[in-house]
Amino acid sequence: MKKIAVLTSGGDAPGMNACIRSVVLTAQRYGIDVIGYLHGYNGPLKQEYIDLNASDVANIIQRGGTVLHSARCLEFKTDEAAKTAAANLDELGVEALLVIGGDGSFRGAAHLANFWSGQVIGLPGTIDNDIYGSDATIGFYTAVETAVSSIDKVRDTADAFERVFLIEVMGRNAGFIGLAAAVASSADHILLPELFRTSDDEMQNIMNHLLCARERHGNNSYIVVVTENIWPGGVTALADELSKKSGSESRPVILGHVQRGGSPVTQDRLLATKLGAFAVEAALAGETNIMVGEQDMQVVTVPLEKTWKKQKALDPYLVKVATDLFDETKIRT
Ligand code: ADP
Repeated sequence: MKKIAVLTSGGDAPGMNACIRSVVLTAQRYGIDVIGYLHGYNGPLKQEYIDLNASDVANIIQRGGTVLHSARCLEFKTDEAAKTAAANLDELGVEALLVIGGDGSFRGAAHLANFWSGQVIGLPGTIDNDIYGSDATIGFYTAVETAVSSIDKVRDTADAFERVFLIEVMGRNAGFIGLAAAVASSADHILLPELFRTSDDEMQNIMNHLLCARERHGNNSYIVVVTENIWPGGVTALADELSKKSGSESRPVILGHVQRGGSPVTQDRLLATKLGAFAVEAALAGETNIMVGEQDMQVVTVPLEKTWKKQKALDPYLVKVATDLFDETKIRT
């Protein structure tokens, strides 16, 4: 194998740079040239790329974002675009394309594979952790860390004013960030897509829970972690409704894109480094249409299709801790 390419696509995640670095250093070890395609799938489509050598990836392990930039490229869903990209890859003599991204980016890789004889390998890079086949995804740990430190800060002001705060975290349609951040910041209540029933049920539940907490502990701060896209109208609408119903002033906080940024924490750097190296070795071994992941601390390969066809479950014991063992309404006095 003489040449491979790497790109980052979809939502950026802290640790993508650490992963690119690992790909380049591992490829160098095996005497393989690496090019980095820019702006997601726009790169192979428009032949926008840079050569990547060891010196290009020095001092990037600690940087958030991605030096290759990311982008969405809706055009790539067409057959024509995939055929153009395949021809461009062949023109440069690329034998394997490594795609760092989420499930959308993996669908893109599988789509390309229908028209290209080279190998495609996915690396799970998304803060949402919603990829089946890997215990964690690159960026997840940093996003949780950011959410937890932000919630801790909101807690300080919530305590001072004895207020209710509803804090929206990212997750697309998955509750991994919400669950981990809520437990680690000792939030009083959580709303996760996996457990969500109806808005009426959930509102009743929050009301019962809030009243119970107020009866027991007086007018303390009360924090609810809410995953994005879950409440009609978002946390702002939820805060208005809750203020009216409970008579307690409730404030919304949307953490938003701060969760994507910042220097990756150690766990993300390690995961990114392991998977970057393993992806190159998987390419050398002739693997294609797979994602590299980590399960029980072992690197694994997973058929690309499985990563989006199967749904990854939340940690059931952590769910029990959050929604049962620590639930105010269920604790006997
Ligand atoms: P993520 O990878 O974070 O899930 P997206 O869902 O936005 O992000 O997907 C990233 C990119 O992957 C899209 O902009 C598009 O270029 C490509 N992509 C997504 N789905 C497909 C598909 N079904 N076919 C081809 N390309 C796709």
